[in-house]
Amino acid sequence: MNFGSARKTALFVFGTLAACGSFAFVFQAHKDGYRDTPILPGQKWHVHDVDRPYPNAVVPGKKLGDAPSDAIVLFDGKDLSHWCQYPQNNENGTPVEPKWKLVNGTIQVAGGTGNLYTREKFGDCQLHIEWKEAADVTGRGQGRGNSGVFLQSRYEVQVLDSYKAPTYADGQAGALYGQWPPLVNPQRKPGEWQTYDIFFEAAKWEGDKVVSPAYVTVMFNGVLVHNHQKLNGITAHAAVEPYEKIADEMPLFLQDHGPSHPLQFRNIWVRKLAGYDQPEK
Ligand code: MG
Repeated sequence: MNFGSARKTALFVFGTLAACGSFAFVFQAHKDGYRDTPILPGQKWHVHDVDRPYPNAVVPGKKLGDAPSDAIVLFDGKDLSHWCQYPQNNENGTPVEPKWKLVNGTIQVAGGTGNLYTREKFGDCQLHIEWKEAADVTGRGQGRGNSGVFLQSRYEVQVLDSYKAPTYADGQAGALYGQWPPLVNPQRKPGEWQTYDIFFEAAKWEGDKVVSPAYVTVMFNGVLVHNHQKLNGITAHAAVEPYEKIADEMPLFLQDHGPSHPLQFRNIWVRKLAGYDQPEK
């Protein structure tokens, strides 16, 4: 059925008898709502607007953490086809097949080979990723299984063993590296799987000017550790860096911090985020 044409042709206006106060109630073949209610501030829609698009249906995963139907599954334990590496991490170079290893349904960091990049590029997105430190992780501070999830190739959500293993606060696991510590530390022991659910809004530019900064929300093992937190600029070690004019969509990447940081990743999926009121599919 073509609901668009049905909308135009199948309107039945019950008027004020529609048991909805003094507003005219509009009934359509597939929708109900109003056209004479107040306009919502800052929006083009009436309250309960009959013409407002229905949100498109998405089938959720069977259990929390499973990919929903509109996700791009970046890693499901089978292959590394969504991933690549760049010699010397040169993003402008030619991508090569990853040297990071597929081990027992996980991605194992091949330390010293470079970061692991997605072949596809992303801007605003929702990202689910799981990671695990070696149960016998050694070292101290930033030396305990260091990696990172880089959003738009520039903003690091730190990956590290910070379970009873202190380092500087804005560099521990879950930190927006060098800018914001996690609100709390919900990390599990090394050897146990950890989860990040990350919600990212890329910075918006007009010409060479940032007109809206980047924002990050992070759930760490299901616990909120950043709540729509504004980033100051790109993340960096021991430095404050401004924003960098980059493409609206860039690869996500997982950080290679060297051979002494063995780590595993699994169950990685991402959803590209669009705004409210997308056209109905
Ligand atoms: Mg790191």
